[in-house]
Amino acid sequence: MTGKFYIETYGCQMNSYDSQAIEGILEGLGMTPVLKPEAADLIIFNTCSVRDAAEQRVIGRINQLDGLRRGRKGRLLMGVAGCMSQRMGEELIAVTKRRLDFVVGPDQYNNLPEILARIEAEERDLCYRDFDQEVAYFAKPKDTPPGGTHFVAVMRGCDKFCTYCIVPFTRGRERSRDRRSIVEEVERLAARGAFEVMLLGQAVSSYCDDDLDFAGLLGEVSAVEGIESVRFMTSYPTDMDIGFFRAVASLPKVGTGIHLPFQSGSDKILKAMNRRYTIGEYERILENGRREVPGLLFSTDIIVGFPGETEEDFQATLAVVERQAFISAYMFKYSPREGTLSARWEDDIPTAVKEERLGRLIALQERMSRRQLDRCLGQEMEILLDEPSKKLETQLRGRTRSNVRVIIDKDPDLKIGSKVMVRVTEIKGTSLLAVRVQGD
Ligand code: SF4
Repeated sequence: MTGKFYIETYGCQMNSYDSQAIEGILEGLGMTPVLKPEAADLIIFNTCSVRDAAEQRVIGRINQLDGLRRGRKGRLLMGVAGCMSQRMGEELIAVTKRRLDFVVGPDQYNNLPEILARIEAEERDLCYRDFDQEVAYFAKPKDTPPGGTHFVAVMRGCDKFCTYCIVPFTRGRERSRDRRSIVEEVERLAARGAFEVMLLGQAVSSYCDDDLDFAGLLGEVSAVEGIESVRFMTSYPTDMDIGFFRAVASLPKVGTGIHLPFQSGSDKILKAMNRRYTIGEYERILENGRREVPGLLFSTDIIVGFPGETEEDFQATLAVVERQAFISAYMFKYSPREGTLSARWEDDIPTAVKEERLGRLIALQERMSRRQLDRCLGQEMEILLDEPSKKLETQLRGRTRSNVRVIIDKDPDLKIGSKVMVRVTEIKGTSLLAVRVQGD
């Protein structure tokens, strides 16, 4: 199969990783990636199903790009990958009035050569979406400079079945990749100059390969020569025991900015969400973490307006945010997702109330983020320089071990990938401005 392909990626980092894997598979067929759909012979939308709005956006885009077929010499193929293809399957081909040539689920990308061969043989409306517990993909490393963060998916699927979440139905059962293949992938990235990796999984902290748990995997990945920083996303609270935090404390290359969603401050709502902890247990996990790992910072996810949420429940959520002072948070209004358990329940919180609560929550979280950044003023800290400034040529960007963005002025001997001691002088938005510590 020859020709040019264009991949449009939506949603989470796992999708970005999968798009790199799809790119590798299509290049293996002799196809060439292009950056614009207008230049492509094949367009693949790698989609997200976390909210209805995300799906509607893709359907609109498919209808729009169908216009590229008018007056065009050769065929333009279009296909959908990702969570939407898994959730909707053939229905997606019908909904888009057969503008799509195929739909391929997250466990079926290795079958893309077969799918494209069948389409070349004039077959249409192909839908591949069986789950495959054994499937594994290796993302084609980004061609970008070694700076920045390189994603490595270490798990697929999720068994937590939070009642509002579509992921267990679109990504299948939890399965951990073989440790050897992960370390080999990180070694390949390091050989290309990468110095930071982000280990990905829907519940990455639940990783387990025979006797190796996630703390063990962090140890193996941090031992790869050339890797200076190992970050991970997204963790699940009940995996975070004291042993895990002690392991993080003993591995200086492992990031101490941990993303740990709590979702609601009300035990009644947590139970309805099927989140497997009480808010008391969650907060004890954070306290244990801060005690065991100096400088540990938490970020989180919060949903407001879940069915049955009273003002009192919401006040409990605000109280957790005030007590725990997260460095940042992703905050959402609850929206029912077809196919999930909670979508069967009455969505009884009016949109105006959801929006008003979300507004109060965001205002409070902004104050908490600022409180955490204020604590850094005047402090000396080590940062890893990971990319040039997006704004000023005279500046470099880096991150603290706890994942706070820091900006410093360039120095002839400062290189992307190196660690440097700095003193924080100012706060700019969600970033810190700093100066290099003399003698460093
Ligand atoms: S743990 Fe995360 S991915 Fe898994 S079901 Fe819950 S919200 Fe979804």
